[in-house]
Amino acid sequence: MKRPALHWQILIALVLATVTGMIFRGLFGPDPGEGSFCTRAIEISSFVGDLFMQALKMIIVPLIVTSVISGIASLQGVQGFGRLGGKTLGFYALTTLLAVFTGLTVVNLIEPGVKDGVPNEAIRSAFASHAASASEAEHAKVAEAAGRQAGDFLDTFRMMIPPNVFQAATDNGQMLGVIVFSILFAIAMTRLPSEEIRTLRDFFQAGNDVMITLTRWIMAVSPIGVYALMFPVIHANGPEVFWELKAYFITVLVALGIHFGLTLPLILRFLGGIRPADHFRALREALLLAFSTASSSGTLPVTMRCVQENAGVSKRVSSFTLPLGATVNMDGTALYECVAVVFVAQVMGVDMGFTQQFFVVIAALLTSIGVAGVPSASLVAILLILKNSQVPEAETAVVALLAVDRLLDMSRTAVNVFGDSCAAVVIAKSEGDPVYSK
Ligand code: ASP
Repeated sequence: MKRPALHWQILIALVLATVTGMIFRGLFGPDPGEGSFCTRAIEISSFVGDLFMQALKMIIVPLIVTSVISGIASLQGVQGFGRLGGKTLGFYALTTLLAVFTGLTVVNLIEPGVKDGVPNEAIRSAFASHAASASEAEHAKVAEAAGRQAGDFLDTFRMMIPPNVFQAATDNGQMLGVIVFSILFAIAMTRLPSEEIRTLRDFFQAGNDVMITLTRWIMAVSPIGVYALMFPVIHANGPEVFWELKAYFITVLVALGIHFGLTLPLILRFLGGIRPADHFRALREALLLAFSTASSSGTLPVTMRCVQENAGVSKRVSSFTLPLGATVNMDGTALYECVAVVFVAQVMGVDMGFTQQFFVVIAALLTSIGVAGVPSASLVAILLILKNSQVPEAETAVVALLAVDRLLDMSRTAVNVFGDSCAAVVIAKSEGDPVYSK
């Protein structure tokens, strides 16, 4: 019998994990005793899930380095490089801005934190109870974030020039430094006589081909990885959580849905002349993986492969737009930050006027650049914005949001990855790549 295509396998794994996770929750409850069969199953599943995530992360640094260098140092690589950079940053700024305004409009229309014209007290107490049941790790994460100052976000820009590139490569949050170094390295290569750098160019080219093969191997086992990641998540998050915060969940999902299903497809169609359906099809595996892992950096190898192999984007364009996008361009995250901040303000009875919401927009735009592409990373930025907006009980609210974050995180990560991939195809087409020409 022929095996179903990989995206079907991943989808089946997601469904199976949901069904078995719910069955286990129903049979054994959310807190099965230590050493019980259910706890064992969850431990094994988490272990396998960790292996899968680590395998994805394992290839990120060599993949970024080899693809950026081989993409730019190709013969015509640096010609028009400034133009490519300008288009990419312009595209990222435009789409993030649109995402933020979508979030802001939807949260002001639905007002998920308000009931009958007054702050919703039930949600305020739900915050307290979620915060009380949050894990120690979640409390620690928020406590650490609370100590950060607005100025710390300047670190994002400081990281662009790493004092030690090897150290930057070992730190997940500092990918930007590795990218900048690789770009400079590649540009410098092109300034040397061609015969002198031939070996070096072949080296990075072959290295990149090797990394793509490794990505394919890891993807071959991705259905198992996705199952292993999702099973404990579904077991831990019962539907009760969604019920209490349903208006909030709906607000976030509607706003993300508009950006994903309307804004970006319109941009694909009118700015790029690309059929959105073709692009969704090409990106299936990356989107499913982003959704399952809630990490846009972890998904990067697969996004690159989908965009190069299924959409026909050149290495030159994809190796510049995608690694940069995975670190600085987060449409879903920026949108989510706006919705979350305004929602918490509504619950706490803080009336945010135009000026304050304008501050939230700017803060969401800037902080989304610095948020790392790992699960729940944006909660830190949300806490920072809330505190700067003088919203009371900000820490309790953020611990509570962290405790119920997974589904929303998965959804915004898929939007983040989709946004990057749209930039890659639209820009590639304008640069003359054979995008969707087969
Ligand atoms: N999980 C998101 C990502 O990796 C970041 C976030 O919004 O928390 O893209």
